[in-house]
Amino acid sequence: MNAKVLLFALLGLPQAVWSQADTLGYGGPEGLDIYEELIEEDGGSVDPVIPRVAAGPVAWDVNDSLSFIPGYDMYCHWNTDVIFDRGNTARFVHDTLRLVLSQADCDHALPCEGKLNSPFGPRRGRMHYGIDLDLETGDTVRCAFAGMVRISKYNKSFGHVVVVRHQNGLETLYAHLSKRLVEPGQVVEAGDLLGLGGNTGRSYGSHLHFEVRFLDQPIDPLLVFDVDKGQLKASTLDIHKGVFASIAAAKAASSARRYHTVRPGDTLSAIARRNRTSVSALCRLNGIRSTSVLRVGQRVRVN
Ligand SMILES: [Zn+2]
Repeated sequence: MNAKVLLFALLGLPQAVWSQADTLGYGGPEGLDIYEELIEEDGGSVDPVIPRVAAGPVAWDVNDSLSFIPGYDMYCHWNTDVIFDRGNTARFVHDTLRLVLSQADCDHALPCEGKLNSPFGPRRGRMHYGIDLDLETGDTVRCAFAGMVRISKYNKSFGHVVVVRHQNGLETLYAHLSKRLVEPGQVVEAGDLLGLGGNTGRSYGSHLHFEVRFLDQPIDPLLVFDVDKGQLKASTLDIHKGVFASIAAAKAASSARRYHTVRPGDTLSAIARRNRTSVSALCRLNGIRSTSVLRVGQRVRVN
């Protein structure tokens, strides 16, 4: 256990000490502007519900400060075990937050060079909360932005997975790795090697499942990266409630039951293929056998 990991074990400090509301803006180390809060033109102010780290009267030693944990002022937690600590996260209460993604050419990197295999969004009746990028097992997987490794572990779904928290509050997740090369608490730069690509966990074929999240809520990584061009979409990213609302709507749509009405000539395998499912899944959903005869007009549940 290195000194930093040990320090995190001591983070059960009374939170109020660190969360005195004051007039401080958010900021990164050395006054770096990491994001700015956009306030409505009509003067509507933003309710500062997310506690902010105070620098004023609190006895303050930079060596035991929490401020070196990226985004601690927003999350108020640093959990190196739970991948998404939904119950413990401050809600997004702002009109719009403009996150600064890049201030120089070298401060960001595409995690791998493979093409996009599968986008973010509804997929086979479930939400896909990231993008899938093509790679071969053993290919290098690199960190998208500077930050600190929060998670490096094995997970049943994600396989070997690494999560990095960045100064602007974004978190990036790298899943199905064959090998992890970083530890929680490790400080990483954009482009640093995090691990090797693979096919571990719930994965069918080598690929990188890459997610971008803010306050434990998923964001389409293609809002951040232009995968085809291998570069950032823009140097800033605006986050507002609409971003999450559209995701919630897509999720609701993806989980709604869908049916196919049997037409002449339809077969179970053709229906399965068209709906990106399997004959055995259709049989299970509809309580039928693969040899059952379909009637024209019969409704077959497909998800
Ligand atoms: Zn995926």
